[in-house]
Amino acid sequence: MHKQLQLLRDLQELDTERKTVETERQVGLKEQQALNAELERLQKMVDSLAGEISVLEGEKSELVSAMALEQGNVERSEGRLPQIKTQKEYVAVLKEVDTAKKLSKDLQAGIDAKDEILQSLTADKDEKDGELAANAEQAEARCAEVDASMVAVNKKLVEMDRQRAAQLEELPKKLRKRYELLMSRRAGVAIVEARNGACLGCHMQLPPQMFNSLFVLNEIQSCPHCSRLLFATAPD
Ligand SMILES: [Zn+2]
Repeated sequence: MHKQLQLLRDLQELDTERKTVETERQVGLKEQQALNAELERLQKMVDSLAGEISVLEGEKSELVSAMALEQGNVERSEGRLPQIKTQKEYVAVLKEVDTAKKLSKDLQAGIDAKDEILQSLTADKDEKDGELAANAEQAEARCAEVDASMVAVNKKLVEMDRQRAAQLEELPKKLRKRYELLMSRRAGVAIVEARNGACLGCHMQLPPQMFNSLFVLNEIQSCPHCSRLLFATAPD
């Protein structure tokens, strides 16, 4: 019986350590996820700015084409002026030139406005690009560090699982099941010490006779309050 109790205690110790290692692994994974999420956020901002810039450039190029057309109209009309014979026709062509020039001027104002927005968006994108590059470099380095520690952590977990399976194998099937059930139902603590008459799992007082019987070690007992398996260490 003493041997089984010792096995259970060893198993509990291993499982508690395994939980710590598993938490370490989860922390590492979460950190990597957070780093990647931040990079994704920056990349989305850069992409969205690039999209806006591309739309504006398309609009600007339409304005530039329209202006080239108007300038062509101005030149063509002005070219006709020397050949004009009548005053009426002359005035009409001058009016055409005037209208085309005015349109050109409006178009140029439109192009200038687009240029101004483009300039500010490009500056914004350049800044985000820089931020992204710097963050990506840092995140990559940190992810590599975490990856390296994950290798060690995973190796440790595999070794622990192997050890755990071997330890479980040594327990009678019934006790093994009881242990596993308690592990899942009692927050990963299946066997606890009873000290000063109380269960250290739930901190409830045990019946005195039961507490005293724990030192005799003739059978493995459970806390009547939390059902955890109990062991007692004789005071020094
Ligand atoms: Zn208890």
